[in-house]
Amino acid sequence: MTAQLIDGKQIAEHCRLQVQQQAVAMLQQTGVSPHLAAILCGDDPASQVYVRNKEKACAKAGLRSTLHRLPADVTQQQLQQLIAALNSNPDVHGILVQLPLPRHLDTVAILDAVTPLKDVDAFHPENVGLMLQGRPRFLPCTPAGVMRLLSASGIPTAGRHAVVIGRSDIVGKPMAALLLQKGADATVTVCHSRTPDIAALCRQADIVIAAVGIPNFVHGDWLKPDAVVIDVGINRLGDKLVGDVDFDAAVGHVAAITPVPGGVGPMTIAMLLENTLTAARLQTTRP
Ligand code: NAP
Repeated sequence: MTAQLIDGKQIAEHCRLQVQQQAVAMLQQTGVSPHLAAILCGDDPASQVYVRNKEKACAKAGLRSTLHRLPADVTQQQLQQLIAALNSNPDVHGILVQLPLPRHLDTVAILDAVTPLKDVDAFHPENVGLMLQGRPRFLPCTPAGVMRLLSASGIPTAGRHAVVIGRSDIVGKPMAALLLQKGADATVTVCHSRTPDIAALCRQADIVIAAVGIPNFVHGDWLKPDAVVIDVGINRLGDKLVGDVDFDAAVGHVAAITPVPGGVGPMTIAMLLENTLTAARLQTTRP
């Protein structure tokens, strides 16, 4: 049996078209066009690619975006001043600070400085709290993208055992929280670098979500034949991008799997577009 390939590009394209239609309707009804402000500090090549892809996606979806480029030696105060200006600018609806920030900056303080109503990455503690309580303002983009991949592919989560590998604030923890929410109703195991025998846990999993950052971390023989495998990892191996799952070993015998690239990555951007539209709606009163 060969696995069903979960096509993140196609599902993301569908999401983008819906955002585009809704943005057109919003402009007609309110005169407001959603606007994302992205902040890029320094010249990390991967971050430049990510920001460029987000700008391109905004343009394709009919959303406005503005990139604020700051030098790698920007001070905490200068960056916070820019965020304060964007927070109070009524023409800006979403603010994105591209991570990682240069080491001398206090990332937590910077992310906390973004007003929760414009926090389209859903990193602010207020938005994390609302999400945990099951009444989200914005959903965190990568985990929300994974949930959308599953639902769009007709893969149920209720009553199923999901193993999430990774417990970062950006992926693993919110991923586990979304799977656990009422409505999603999965039974969730979260693994990290101190978890013994992750292979044995994966062998019990109906759904494996890998967000580790180690190429081919999940071996093919860790996966049940009917498992669904979502590979969040993006790792550069020579001139190739690979995930955290040994795709070639897994694809022959699991039920469904996401490719890297073309799986979770496009969905993360699609969810950012949705959050930007939501942010604009939250900040717009009908005339
Ligand atoms: P991260 O902050 O580095 O977290 C990695 C997690 O993996 C940590 O919880 C860590 O455990 C765990 N881990 C590391 N080594 C391990 C080991 N040997 N055994 C078990 N667990 C281990 O990374 P992240 O930001 O969550 O990202 C994870 C991957 O997803 C990366 O490849 C990243 O590029 C990718 N990513 C992709 C997207 C997308 O849109 N597709 C978005 C975000 C991230 P500890 O907590 O114990 O250290």
